[in-house]
Amino acid sequence: MQSKYTQYKNINMPSTVQLKLIQKDCGYGCVICGAPICYVYSQNDPFHYNKKFILLCPNHYPSENHLEKSNLFLKEKPYNIRNPQKTTDQIKIKLSNILLNQADQEVLIPILIDSLPVIAVTITESKPLLDILLFDEFNNELLIIRQNLIFNQEKEIAIEFKKNTFLIKNKSKPILLKIEFTKKMITIEGTILLSGVKVKIDNTSIKINEVQIKLPEIMDTTNHTIGISIGQNNDIPAVLTLTKVNRYNNH
Ligand SMILES: [Zn+2]
Repeated sequence: MQSKYTQYKNINMPSTVQLKLIQKDCGYGCVICGAPICYVYSQNDPFHYNKKFILLCPNHYPSENHLEKSNLFLKEKPYNIRNPQKTTDQIKIKLSNILLNQADQEVLIPILIDSLPVIAVTITESKPLLDILLFDEFNNELLIIRQNLIFNQEKEIAIEFKKNTFLIKNKSKPILLKIEFTKKMITIEGTILLSGVKVKIDNTSIKINEVQIKLPEIMDTTNHTIGISIGQNNDIPAVLTLTKVNRYNNH
């Protein structure tokens, strides 16, 4: 498995089983600051031919211009191991005024478009792990995050992390996605594109292809694993279901 983004850094991504162990060893976060969404970084030792993988967030991953840092070896235990967080039983996922409750081991799908989970969340060892797929208006992949690990990031995408919040930006356009992590809640705002569907979520509204969706003031979200479902989804119940939407056309 080779990440496009990390090609120039010559990293071969480890297997899924290895990744799970790496995440556990690193305390499910950046080894320096504990941030949840990370790159997999290889500490290459050319003289001993061993490879040790660690997790580093966008703030601590050595940049293209600072490859000399590539011999970064940890002297301390990973941040999240040194500073274990009190865990909560349940984490809520917030999309505008849709709140999904996450129980352990359950997979929640905040956004599903044409049966593709564009955003999904699972809890492993009390840590929420996000899967995110971002596309441009022509369905080109821009970003792939699996279980909080950045697998593929196109050059035009920038990821910033400040005060519990990840900002995913398309350099030529405004913010694509804002993900805020607090102990009890993950708040997702931004714009998601796929197959002629544009979902725009902010604090107070949800727009689909520029049409504001009327949300009931009180929504029963218990037992729902899907937040917003657009297109066909094999009739799995969602808090907000829109089977037919007028899709924009770029061709
Ligand atoms: Zn960090």
